[in-house]
Amino acid sequence: MKEPRHWLAKKLTQAARRYLVGPEQRWIFERPSQDWSPPLIERTSLYLHVPFCRHFCPYCPYTKVPYQASLESPYTQAAMAEVDWWANTIGPAEITSIYIGGGTPTLALDSITSVLERVRERFHLSGDICIETNPADVNSEVIARLHEMGVALVSLGVESFQPRHLATLGRDYQPAVAERALSLLAESHFASVNADIMFALPGQTASEVTSDLEHAVQLGADQLTTYPLFTFPYTSVGKYLRLMSVRMPDLPTRREHYQAISRWCAGHGFERVSVWGFKRGGVPRYSSVTRDGYIGIGPGSGSHLPDGFVLNTFDLKGWEEAATNGRPAIALRMPFAGEMSGWWWLYWRFYDTRIPLDVIDAALGGDAVKARRWLKVIERVGLAARHDGFLELTEAGAFWLHLAQNYFALNYVNTLWTRARQEPWPKAVAI
Ligand code: SF4
Repeated sequence: MKEPRHWLAKKLTQAARRYLVGPEQRWIFERPSQDWSPPLIERTSLYLHVPFCRHFCPYCPYTKVPYQASLESPYTQAAMAEVDWWANTIGPAEITSIYIGGGTPTLALDSITSVLERVRERFHLSGDICIETNPADVNSEVIARLHEMGVALVSLGVESFQPRHLATLGRDYQPAVAERALSLLAESHFASVNADIMFALPGQTASEVTSDLEHAVQLGADQLTTYPLFTFPYTSVGKYLRLMSVRMPDLPTRREHYQAISRWCAGHGFERVSVWGFKRGGVPRYSSVTRDGYIGIGPGSGSHLPDGFVLNTFDLKGWEEAATNGRPAIALRMPFAGEMSGWWWLYWRFYDTRIPLDVIDAALGGDAVKARRWLKVIERVGLAARHDGFLELTEAGAFWLHLAQNYFALNYVNTLWTRARQEPWPKAVAI
């Protein structure tokens, strides 16, 4: 990290994690040893990564390749073989939810159909299936296929309804395309339709953000996920923004947008379900990241196992070769030590903005006293308040957590993903 504030954020998070989780936790991803295999698991979620896009957005950090129809068949064979590998190693677990992301998953619906069939054969699927899609990719045929597959929740990457912001982001559609896609999804009887809306874009005003939220809701979105532009150093976004002669907003502007979003949602019947997300009514919550455990299928997908995190190789060919030959496609693993699993659980409860106090002891074990001490500090400084057995983040707490998340993403995810995309099978990555 060259920027001083990123360097400082990195040092602060390193000190905090050492103090909280303890020195026995090594923050290093390494090649798994030959004799390692995942433990048996009774219940977990599943993430399927579909790495195809027709158009590359310059800010995008995800693993993807340009779509070609000829890539689908080898991808499908490898993904089905990887489902088999997981079933053979962790056992016929209950799959409590499936999240299909990318890339643009709806470019490869035949592949997804085959992979879901294999998941149903090898596991016990008990939960909802969520999928991401892109406005340019939604039509009535795609929607019919999603229903056939049993997809319940759909998330549409709208990002903005303003032509100049779509241009800044390098999105390849006009607002009318996003409007049509959202209303088509909203009238198609899914359990929930989420719209992703970006804020703190260069030159964007708070009223433009809330007008985007309003428009998404008028078109039928019942969940809203709002997020700022992450500037991952390895994406081309920095160069792209310089070419467009625009500057990123400063912290006060970002805070103004964040508060405007919270106020708008509270005033329009949307409850906060995470630092970034809001939903209306009793629809099932759409979320890609808050699951307690998951297995990942596809290049670059991660898994959160009871004994640690693992990450597949980012290299499409390397992943296909390993998976179709019945070998694990896992390039890196970071085992858990001490109460790391419990601290990870607590981190995501902060992300939910609600921490259930009655399960702290069970989740944090030997570190529960330390965790409670810190929760008390957070409460005392006004970042959280107790309510019905939960510690709930205040608006200020949610804002500061969203910033911490931003730096967490930049420092950890960027370090890991940068190396993983440079080398298909890195030896070790310290985060
Ligand atoms: S933002 Fe979405 S559509 Fe754009 S390149 Fe990334 S995965 Fe593809």
